[in-house]
Amino acid sequence: MAQASNIQSWDLEADVVIIGSGAAGLPAAVKAADGGVSVIVVEANYDIGGHAIISGGNVPLGGGTSAQKKYGIQDSPDTVFSDLTDWTVVQNNGWPDYRYNDREVMRAFADHCALTFEFLLENGVEFKPIAPDNQGGHNLGNSAPRENHCFWTKGAGYESPNNRAGTGLIRPLENSARAKGVRFLLNHKMTNFVREGEQSGRVVGVTAAYTPRIMPGQSTPLKSFRADGNIESTKPSVSVRAKKAVIVATGGMTSDVNFRRMFDPRLTAVLTVAGEPYTYQDASGERAAMAIGASLWGLVNQTLENGDNIRTQRVLATKWNYMTWELEFPLFPLVRATGLAVKDWHDLILVNQVGKRFYDETKGDYPHGNVYKDIDPYTPNDYRNNEHIHYHPSNYNFFNAAVAMNEYSEPPEYSAGPIWAIFDADAVKRNKWQVETPYVDPDGYFFSANTLAELAGKIKNEFQVKPMKGETLRATVERYNSFVDAGKDSDFGKPSPKYKIQTPPFYAAWGTPNVHDTRSGLHINAKCQVLDMNGQVIPGLYCAGESAGGFNQHGLGRCTTQGFISGMNAAAERV
Ligand SMILES: Cc1cc2nc3c(=O)[nH]c(=O)nc-3n(C[C@H](O)[C@H](O)[C@H](O)COP(=O)(O)OP(=O)(O)OC[C@H]3O[C@@H](n4cnc5c(N)ncnc54)[C@H](O)[C@@H]3O)c2cc1C
Repeated sequence: MAQASNIQSWDLEADVVIIGSGAAGLPAAVKAADGGVSVIVVEANYDIGGHAIISGGNVPLGGGTSAQKKYGIQDSPDTVFSDLTDWTVVQNNGWPDYRYNDREVMRAFADHCALTFEFLLENGVEFKPIAPDNQGGHNLGNSAPRENHCFWTKGAGYESPNNRAGTGLIRPLENSARAKGVRFLLNHKMTNFVREGEQSGRVVGVTAAYTPRIMPGQSTPLKSFRADGNIESTKPSVSVRAKKAVIVATGGMTSDVNFRRMFDPRLTAVLTVAGEPYTYQDASGERAAMAIGASLWGLVNQTLENGDNIRTQRVLATKWNYMTWELEFPLFPLVRATGLAVKDWHDLILVNQVGKRFYDETKGDYPHGNVYKDIDPYTPNDYRNNEHIHYHPSNYNFFNAAVAMNEYSEPPEYSAGPIWAIFDADAVKRNKWQVETPYVDPDGYFFSANTLAELAGKIKNEFQVKPMKGETLRATVERYNSFVDAGKDSDFGKPSPKYKIQTPPFYAAWGTPNVHDTRSGLHINAKCQVLDMNGQVIPGLYCAGESAGGFNQHGLGRCTTQGFISGMNAAAERV
């Protein structure tokens, strides 16, 4: 913890210092610069963008945007506010979407949502020229379609780390920020907020450690796409003075195993996080803010079983299994494998670390989260909405089954351990999967053998605590094959299992679920100022995006909007 009196002289200074350059940090930087102040963005990674640059680029913003008006969609700030605070909306497993949202935070979002959309357009962000819809959205509100879609294509003039649409949101904002004089201190991780007193007075700056990213087999650190406006420093630690304010836009806490287990003790280290290893949501913003007295907020939203907070793997055979990786991804030497995309869950079975199936592989994660017309007819705040909800809790317990204790769950954490996809040579042929490097990672995340017993014996990595027994895996596969013959899965009800697992070689590929979103974080008010445990503003400290609490919605809409709000208010601080 740093106190201002401990800092002899500052290495750098700006009016507003922003920590993190993702979906919240970049809009905050641009908006603060628009307010006529100097801005430094401190970013731990070698390049800007955070999770946002490798995201799907689906941006939920409504409330009467120009895109909604163009397509005749009725919406308003009041409708957004009503939608996102409606206690009656629940998912088909009974969990509420909006009941625990903080009203003050939601009102601020509702009032700035459409303004943020226009601000993104003004700063070069391009959306597909189609009507806003529900695609890719979770917890968008029931009354209007609000999802807008960025795009990125090769040759757009800027580089995407993994050819993802989120680049179409982030690179234009970066261009705008640099053009407006924002400076970037990349490769530097904020370690402490500097406050006048240990737990009192203004926040007057930050300290940051030098964190270059050097890939295995390489000797020089990765370089950012653009260097103009970057502050070059290789000092192990720098101090950055913030004359007006610091904005925390560090993306949340899901990469911090101890932090995330405060919300759900089952989220042990075996689970990775979507967006890793490009950047990490490592709770450094929350921890540093808590160390100077900040409070957390809206904690239940992290545990709610909706909105795909935690997701089934989308690809197999790589540790970071949320998406397939391009060979030219700058961090590929760390990722090591593109991964194998699953098209049909009939091509494989999933087994736990013991070698036993645990669920119908075709069943999805938590319910998606409420979107436009999910409840139809819908009457805001009317408890009879529940008459139009199709309750079906048993359909959506895949994740709960995947992290259930099993015979190998051991003290002290009783972790459920990894999930392995088991398939055979026929499945490989059907999918045209390439089962060698660099498509799979044989160093702990992909195994093959000519018999199932041999395969079980080969499965070893840091999370598989004991060897899987060959006879268990063989019995599991034999039983599953008998379900294919019978046309019925009598254990878990997989509908008409299609393919036997019978042709060697046999394969085991990493298929452990992912944690996706941070939905609880620091206590903020309508201006995005951070509050302490007594509900008092910590002067000079703001927070935006996934690190801010009180708001249960997936992704880029709330982050960009809170970036806009915090940048505007930080620039207007009178000191
Ligand atoms: C694969 C993927 C797909 C997604 N698709 C969508 C989608 O289509 N639509 C949608 O709405 N949402 C999507 N999301 C979610 C969305 O990307 C995030 O909600 C959003 O990016 C969060 O914004 P943020 O600014 O809070 O964090 P981020 O965008 O993650 O940015 C945080 C930044 O802070 C930096 N940082 C962290 N700690 C420090 C520190 N101590 N010092 C300095 N820097 C630090 C990080 O390196 C990072 O660059 C997706 C996420 C992923 C991972």
